[in-house]
Amino acid sequence: MSTETIDSASMELWESAKSFLIMTLKTQEEKSQAERYLGMITSVESDGKKFTIYTINEFTADFLKKDYASKLRGSFMVAGAPEDFVLEIKCDHNAKPAMIVPSSPTPISQSQRPTNFVSTLPLNEEYTFETFVRGPSNSYAISAAEGVVNNPAKTLYNPLFIHGGTGLGKTHLMQAIGNELRRRNPSMMICYLTSETFLNEYVTTLQAGQIESFRHKYRSLDLLLIDDIQFLARGKDVQIEFFNTFNALKDNHKQIVMTSDVAPKDLPILESRLISRFEGGMVQEIENPSYETRLAILKKKVELLEVRVADYVLEFIADNIKSHVRAMEGALTRVCHAIQADPSLTLNNDALSYILKDYIEKERSMRKLTIEEIQQACAKKFGVSMDDILSHERVQSIVTPRQLAMYISKKYTSKGMKEIADSFGKTHPTIISGVKTITGRLTNEPELKVDLEEILSSFGYRLSDAMD
Ligand code: ADP
Ligand code: MG
Repeated sequence: MSTETIDSASMELWESAKSFLIMTLKTQEEKSQAERYLGMITSVESDGKKFTIYTINEFTADFLKKDYASKLRGSFMVAGAPEDFVLEIKCDHNAKPAMIVPSSPTPISQSQRPTNFVSTLPLNEEYTFETFVRGPSNSYAISAAEGVVNNPAKTLYNPLFIHGGTGLGKTHLMQAIGNELRRRNPSMMICYLTSETFLNEYVTTLQAGQIESFRHKYRSLDLLLIDDIQFLARGKDVQIEFFNTFNALKDNHKQIVMTSDVAPKDLPILESRLISRFEGGMVQEIENPSYETRLAILKKKVELLEVRVADYVLEFIADNIKSHVRAMEGALTRVCHAIQADPSLTLNNDALSYILKDYIEKERSMRKLTIEEIQQACAKKFGVSMDDILSHERVQSIVTPRQLAMYISKKYTSKGMKEIADSFGKTHPTIISGVKTITGRLTNEPELKVDLEEILSSFGYRLSDAMD
């Protein structure tokens, strides 16, 4: 299977099947998971009757067969595949090799190491320090990342823990460390993955009786980049496994870098000994970028895309889209498509407002909604008072509207954790655990989901308007 043989009609069909599959998933969490795993599909081939999906490694192929086969089938049909088509999911052995697992448990000497070492999940080559724009919101995190690159595994920066809201550049910065160290030392054993992949791989290898090779793989690394560490909260056993991996690496003076949406102390349901280990190195936050940084990021993206976009267009985007960099990128891509489609297009403010209507509406509504409004709406819906919402009363009839208000404040506004916690007169962990409780309940309690939908619709929102 090589890139030359990819047939574009199959890829097109695949793109619509993928969009459809993601669209039909209910929670944002499911959508993000699907995006991650489907993003690991390298190509799709077809002879009209049989569709073969190729993935970057065996592990992903197995996971997709186990958890996504029927969803994939359904989506292919919707996208136009014939009713009796055959679906195959395979590892693309010509894709960049998956992480090499030494067969013997003896440590590998420097000379035996593979030179083109690639990690469990691929590193995006575009995520480098050069393409990452520095500003007051991220300069400490960048300095710490540079510190890691210059002195990997020196105590001060080990582990490096980067946290911050969604779409603010954590993954980019983490992968920049991986890319730069790989460039400087190609034989370095570097592994990038998310904690969710770690968890899934742990479960799969455990079931297959191959836990020793899993352990050996992760404990022989020079650099472990583990993204979105919050997913470890899903299982106690995997936390213990990670704790042991962490200690083995640290004891061997190997570098660990982690990211999360919250600071270590606010990670819910994580064992306290893990949290204190996470805090044992350097903890840095990435905050929302200022207008100047947003504009500089847009200019950098335009430079990389090699397109010509007038400065006032970039200023318009930086001015109107503030919530996160990913949304800004989406808006920029939209504008670039419009320019491509019609190069003579006059992009005045009205045209831009029209092209970016949904981005702008989302930003406006996010800014408009106050936490107090949310609290009031939840209190009203459940027939309790504002005092109840703000109290410490633990009866379920009050806890539910209170936690639902926390959930809406977190998922449907761009308010920071501190502001939300202050507005409820509670601590960060209380808010996080409230949000988590509701997230769990929403998958099992359709009535609660209806309540949520009704409250959201009173603000002109839909369930799918959640920010991450
Ligand atoms: P996170 O992991 O925090 O959710 P990502 O690292 O995925 O965010 O970043 C989202 C997008 O925004 C990426 O395409 C990334 O390149 C871009 N981005 C974020 N911050 C910056 C920055 N300071 N400079 C350049 N690009 C950035
Ligand atoms: Mg990320």
